[in-house]
Amino acid sequence: MFIDGQFRDSRLGQEMDLIDPSTGQVFARAQLGGAADVDAAVAAARNAFDNGPWPRLPSPERRRLLLALADAIEAEIPAFAEIDSVNMGIPMSSAKFIIGELSVESLRYNAGWMGKIGGEVINTATPDTHVYTVKDPIGVIGAIVPWNSPLMAAMVKLAPALAAGCTVVLKPAELTPLSVLKLAELVQRVGIPAGVLNIVNGVGSVAGQALVEHPGVDKIAFTGSTAVGQGILRSVAATMKRVTLELGGKSPVFILPDADLDRAIDAAAAAIFRNAGQICAAGSRVFAHRKVFDKVVAGLAERAGAMAMGRSLDAATQLGPVVSQRQRERVLGYVEIGRGEGAEVVCGGQAAGDAGFFVQPTVLASVKPDMRVVREEIFGPVVGVQMFEDDDLDRLAALGNDSEYGLAAYIWTTNVSTAHKLARRVKSGIVLVNGGPALDRGVPFGGFKMSGWGREYGREGFEGYLETKSVSIAL
Ligand code: NAD
Repeated sequence: MFIDGQFRDSRLGQEMDLIDPSTGQVFARAQLGGAADVDAAVAAARNAFDNGPWPRLPSPERRRLLLALADAIEAEIPAFAEIDSVNMGIPMSSAKFIIGELSVESLRYNAGWMGKIGGEVINTATPDTHVYTVKDPIGVIGAIVPWNSPLMAAMVKLAPALAAGCTVVLKPAELTPLSVLKLAELVQRVGIPAGVLNIVNGVGSVAGQALVEHPGVDKIAFTGSTAVGQGILRSVAATMKRVTLELGGKSPVFILPDADLDRAIDAAAAAIFRNAGQICAAGSRVFAHRKVFDKVVAGLAERAGAMAMGRSLDAATQLGPVVSQRQRERVLGYVEIGRGEGAEVVCGGQAAGDAGFFVQPTVLASVKPDMRVVREEIFGPVVGVQMFEDDDLDRLAALGNDSEYGLAAYIWTTNVSTAHKLARRVKSGIVLVNGGPALDRGVPFGGFKMSGWGREYGREGFEGYLETKSVSIAL
């Protein structure tokens, strides 16, 4: 645990093996914290917020510390990438990109908002008044993150929270606590005050739940599954904490007949096979027009077959393992469900490798909208391809919108009018046309419907850690 500027043993006194998913071997043990650890961490964060210098530091000083932290992480990108790669199986090349381009730059981007967002002066209906708003940091943030990109998932919350002047108790996923503990060393080294960042590793139902219920926490910033997100909403009703939820997805990829097909298929393969499909915005439902359907199915299968599968640390690896034995069973279980429902397994569908938790990249055809493999998030390298026939964009959008989720949508067409029309009809928080960037730190990211509440990234992401206060004065 990292509490009040110090590394401490867990008060709960439990430990857990960490397994390298590329080998299936234990490579480390991590301590698990519980309610008493959360109490200590929240007390430290509360004290740092209520009495400490952090929220009161002039913005240039807070910015200097966050930029120093960004530089310190950047100097150790290979080390951070290696930790996340061994811990969760993400290939090194992807891990380096995610840490460099997303984690480090998230800090710099949010540090840049400091001092640039203020309130406004309001002309009221009443004469002789002076009314203005100010933006206050929300307070103590409970950040709960999943395992699928450990440092980045944490940084997406830490960067705006710390920049806004909040203090944080972070609970990493119990499978992947290591990179954020290394981050804590750098937080200490650059001189961010004690109590500003606290880390309690632990299982969700124990440490996570204690954080969600804790009366000393002002906001829960959660990324994870929709089911846990729903439970968090129920729990926070008691204390009325602020909440943002980044949840699951079942994102559609629309490939229209006029698309640049090679690029579209390359990108559709990347959208589901990158990080072994363990991406919330994975493009898991492909809709291909009848005229290009056969080429799309064959092209996805060809890309799947050409991917270099291997240990995450090998430089040549494009497709690593899924995170755990349990996750592999879940993914392969879905393939069996799909078979049972009548889906055709065009390629993949099996475990792979002699050791570790590898799953072959899998393409399913003959899938129907009501099948579980089309409706439920698999969170693995499995894509279902459906055919659409006509050119009516309302009907096409309705096919894509036929999901309880609404995180991302991908559109491939060379007709600019079609692109804009379809983008407006799609019910997703982020729409990517012809390979437009996802996860740009300046672009709001989050879900419609059961994919979440609120936005991360961009100005909205930063403002998610501020409260508006109106000050109304009779002159
Ligand atoms: P999960 O919901 O099981 O766990 C996420 C985190 O919540 C972990 O830290 C876990 O320990 C904690 N947790 C579990 N139960 C809890 C409880 N009762 N109270 C408080 N915390 C609890 O999800 P997962 O399996 O770790 O991650 C995969 C899910 O995350 C997928 O559904 C994926 O779509 C989603 N995800 C979403 C985004 C996004 O931005 N929308 C990004 C990445 C992952």
